Amino acid sequence: MGAGAEEGLAERGALSSTVAVVGAVWLALHSTWPFGGDGDLTFPALALATMAAVVTGIRRYQPRPLWPWVLSLVALVMFFTGAALRVSLGTLGDLSENRSALPELFTITGYVALGAMIYGIGRERLGSRWRDINATLDAAIAGLSALALAWIYLITPTLAQHDIPVDVRLALSSYPALSIFLLVIGFRFATGWGSTPPFAFHSLLVALVSMLVGDVVYMLVEMNVVDVARWIDIPYGVGFVAWAVTATHPSMRTITDRITTVETAPRRGLSVVAAAVAVPGLLLLARPDSSTAERAVLALIVVALMLCSGIRVYRALSDHARSEARLSHLVKHDQLTDLPNRVWIDGHLNDMFAGKVEHGPAIALMFLDVDRFKLVNDRLGHSVGDDLLRSVARRLTETCRASDVVARFGGDEFVILLASVRDEAEALEVAERTRLTFGPPFVLGDIEVASATSIGLRFVDDWSGAITADTVVRDADTAMYAAKESGGNAVVLFDERMHERVSRRLVLEGEVRLAIERNQLSLDYQPIVDLTDGRVTGLEALIRWDHPELGRVPPDDFIPVCEEIGYIVELGSWVLDRAVAELARIRSAVEHSDKLSVAVNVSVRQLRDQRFTDRVARAVLEHGVPPTTLCLEITESLLVENLGELSETLELLRGFGVRVAIDDFGTGYSSLSYLRRLPVDEMKIDREFVTGLGRDQADDSVVAAMIAMGNALGFSIVAEGVETAQQRDRLIALGCRHAQGYAFEKPVPADQVPAMLQRLGLAAGPRLRVIRDPA
Ligand code: C2E
Ligand code: MG
Ligand code: MG
Repeated sequence: MGAGAEEGLAERGALSSTVAVVGAVWLALHSTWPFGGDGDLTFPALALATMAAVVTGIRRYQPRPLWPWVLSLVALVMFFTGAALRVSLGTLGDLSENRSALPELFTITGYVALGAMIYGIGRERLGSRWRDINATLDAAIAGLSALALAWIYLITPTLAQHDIPVDVRLALSSYPALSIFLLVIGFRFATGWGSTPPFAFHSLLVALVSMLVGDVVYMLVEMNVVDVARWIDIPYGVGFVAWAVTATHPSMRTITDRITTVETAPRRGLSVVAAAVAVPGLLLLARPDSSTAERAVLALIVVALMLCSGIRVYRALSDHARSEARLSHLVKHDQLTDLPNRVWIDGHLNDMFAGKVEHGPAIALMFLDVDRFKLVNDRLGHSVGDDLLRSVARRLTETCRASDVVARFGGDEFVILLASVRDEAEALEVAERTRLTFGPPFVLGDIEVASATSIGLRFVDDWSGAITADTVVRDADTAMYAAKESGGNAVVLFDERMHERVSRRLVLEGEVRLAIERNQLSLDYQPIVDLTDGRVTGLEALIRWDHPELGRVPPDDFIPVCEEIGYIVELGSWVLDRAVAELARIRSAVEHSDKLSVAVNVSVRQLRDQRFTDRVARAVLEHGVPPTTLCLEITESLLVENLGELSETLELLRGFGVRVAIDDFGTGYSSLSYLRRLPVDEMKIDREFVTGLGRDQADDSVVAAMIAMGNALGFSIVAEGVETAQQRDRLIALGCRHAQGYAFEKPVPADQVPAMLQRLGLAAGPRLRVIRDPA
């Protein structure tokens, strides 16, 4: 919004403030005017000024819909005409036979227009909520109560003045009745305010209340009950000013905006109380000296009031009962499928174990998880995901016996409770059948989704109390995880040993984050040697975790955990920095070690991290080693899968001088075309292929092919896991220059590296490529 527009807005707000101030000054002058007395022309003048304000407001703010404001103008014209006639015909206080009914006729029409305007605004604001019967009853109760009061204190006394012509009496007593009509609509309208009603809404309510007060005063003056003719126009005046303020305030545009929230709860409670006390309260007020006819009318009003109150109280009570039943259903059922949910199952199992619900000699609980559901959700969208879940729910329910219960635990997890099974074999059979129901693809609209499920099964025939409701579900869940780990689409029966595995994993997950600060991590180094002379060309850094209770945790156990919990980036930075720092120390401690390199294993997640290249550069520069002495190892399968997004980073690193190796080569099934494009300097042949060398002809030829290919592509080649002299000789014969393995040295801690290098000797240069053609 530009500065001009903001100024415009401020000025618009200023307009209604100006109207309020001018109106207040006018009214103050009017009521303290020393000469005035009857203030005859005030009312019509105010009506005219308010008309001008409404027209200004309409032109300025262009409200849509327009008709409430048109009705507002109609009402003002009527009030003005009525007032003007009243002055010119001098009817005020004239209670004689020849008093003209014209002013009243116009004024009453004005009321109808005003009522229509407020009714319209209320409908617009509330939309379909307008039909809320309770709110309508509340309004009716308020109206009837007010009517009863008016009847007792205003209308009966007026009608009782037999010296006044009957038409005048009727006309005059219709004012409070009309005001009550306005009040009822206003009340109904007010029950529909949203959380923050606009300012114009409040000022319009002020206008209505002021008119009501004005009507009462007017009637009393007319009947010569009080002599305040001088003040008579003050409440109306306040009403007109509030009306003008409403029309000139910027929020007048939003007065018909549909509200989204209706706050009714506390008031609902209050209105029920009000309904309950209204009738007896009014009966107490009834005057004993009134005539039979008057009492009959009052009785009629009271009966109507009783009826409304009764219905209102009844509805409140049955609403409460209904919402309570609904709530308890909601609490125990899943919204998407309407199946019982976890709360239901937990309660039911508890009842079973407490003997409150019948069950067979043995029961079983199946915990199902839809395989790769996340993929469906991500690729095909959540609504397809929801459809799939509903279809799964339907299929499971259809294949179950009537005595079994299918429940949804949220997400893609379902539970089936078999209330009676003969033995473990039968439970397994049912579970297997359930797994097979996922065989045919699910048809969702015009797409077919193939799916599968992993099922964990907990069998229970021990009712001694050793097993509880909680453990049944937990155990089935554990077994389900085992099914998932085995590759999914499987049934796994729970057994006690599973807990150990799960709890160990939980411990690893929880404690690996603390391992760095607790000083439990270190790096071991395994030499990479030149096969021709057995001298060391480099070291591979391998992480070690010594846990005080679990002992040494293998990296193959905790590295995947770190990957999963997203901790690998932090852990990897620590390894990188530590390895480079230790290389720098070794370089300064050991002579002729300036060509010695260190290899660090990095995960794809690290490479994806924006800060990775900076970290590598910083580590190298900070510790003062040449970038060429750092090698980054990336597992083949992961490198190939993510080549697209990683190649730029790898090229950047290589441009900087850092070497890149493809680790565990042979396990990733790279095609030749891929290999050619890989931005790497080195290839590490996986241990799996080296093991069979010299014994297994197939392994022999595979390794031969790998070496030939690597050499042809210009990679330096390292064979991993060389354990025997036979393997070593074979590798030399096939044209592999470098190797790593127990045959040369196991990984050793950093402080033993200098001694190890002394023993094995250092190669004169960096790792080379092919030494001779293997043909
Ligand atoms: P890797 O990168 O393939 O490391 C070689 C593994 O083979 C090491 O196991 C090493 O101790 C073992 N090894 C070496 N020579 C022989 C041998 O002659 N025979 C046999 N049977 N094994 C040998 P380790 O230390 O248990 O590491 C396992 C894996 O954990 C590593 O495989 C690597 O993928 C990962 N890893 C280790 N340290 C780190 C690290 O700092 N970061 C990341 N991301 N992964 C790491
Ligand atoms: Mg490695
Ligand atoms: Mg490896």
